[in-house]
Amino acid sequence: MPNKITELFNIKYPLIQAGMIWASGWKLASAVSNEGGLGIIGAGSMYPETLKLHIQKCKAATNKPFGVNVPMLYPEIDKLMEIIIGENVQTVFTSAGNPKVWTKHLQSHGIKVVHVVSSVKFALKSQEAGVDAVVAEGFEAGGHNGRDETTTFTLIPMVREQIQIPLIAAGGIATGRGMLAAMVLGADAVQVGSRFVASNEASSHINFKKKVVEAKEGDTQLTLKELAPVRLMKNKFYDDIQQLYESKPSKEDLIKLLGRARAKKGMFEGDLVEGELEIGQISGLIHEIKPAAEILREMIAEFEAAKKEVAFY
Ligand code: NDP
Ligand code: NDP
Repeated sequence: MPNKITELFNIKYPLIQAGMIWASGWKLASAVSNEGGLGIIGAGSMYPETLKLHIQKCKAATNKPFGVNVPMLYPEIDKLMEIIIGENVQTVFTSAGNPKVWTKHLQSHGIKVVHVVSSVKFALKSQEAGVDAVVAEGFEAGGHNGRDETTTFTLIPMVREQIQIPLIAAGGIATGRGMLAAMVLGADAVQVGSRFVASNEASSHINFKKKVVEAKEGDTQLTLKELAPVRLMKNKFYDDIQQLYESKPSKEDLIKLLGRARAKKGMFEGDLVEGELEIGQISGLIHEIKPAAEILREMIAEFEAAKKEVAFY
């Protein structure tokens, strides 16, 4: 199914696996790329040397294109970018920051740059900064999220109306039907996160993967808006945050409760009680841990079947 996005990245399907901290190492990224999607290594949780290792392992595991996601809040971002350029990575997805800072520099090294946004305003800023494509991520998405609570269903057509560059929809998409819906709304491709957390190749802890599979509608919530808004699963850590809110906490109180490396504790070390468990609302529709290739194949088959179904309307 060739279109602007498959041509931009030289991939078979307009399906991108989200770069997620503690979940998207080289095993997941290479499995998705080998199957015709775009696999992405999530650098946010990796020290520079770890990222280098994952890029090298990914190159050995696939001869297909793959990318790296860099959250711009990352403390040693210069070191990450140096490694990305040195290792000839072809595509970088930047998120959570100003797209003007790195876009031109990366593109001068022949790298395609995509920026992740949660609003029309930042989509326009990204287009102005000269990015090759935009990911517009709705309120349903897991992890870092926009403050305005704009859902994917409303965000995609509003961004589509305003920008001319290729658009990738994210947030709440885990099936072929969801993929078709996003593309009908104006997206050229989709980015899928939560569904790939529950894959054999995701580096997340098995406890977390099982928790994702057990999740039901209403089990996630967006919180910590005063720091960086994040959608996570309700557990003891989440209850502690809610309890603290009752005492009208200062920003410092919230930072103190969050502490350090909560996300690692929850998603990588499997502490379901004290850890931060970042996942999207669509986890309620994910019922099985499977190989990433199977997830991708099933999504594409469902997408094709749904396309035929809606042709009757
Ligand atoms: P390992 O380095 O332990 O590798 C797992 C196994 O895969 C090893 O036996 C390794 O062999 C083998 N292997 C290496 N290359 C390939 C290949 N191309 N195809 C198939 N198998 C291969 O773990 P990871 O590769 O998962 O992770 C490396 C490091 O990154 C670890 O320190 C891990 O903790 C960390 N990590 C960090 C993440 C994060 O988000 N921060 C996510 C995932 C991992 P050998 O190494 O002997 O070549
Ligand atoms: P914390 O400050 O609580 O902890 C830092 C964590 O990142 C530790 O677990 C640490 O591993 C690891 N880490 C990796 N590289 C570095 C580095 N260069 N310096 C310090 N720590 C490093 O942060 P969070 O866990 O809340 O967030 C980590 C990053 O992930 C941030 O950049 C954040 O913006 C990003 N993020 C991205 C999301 C996404 O969806 N893409 C979602 C949420 C966060 P160790 O414990 O082994 O030292």
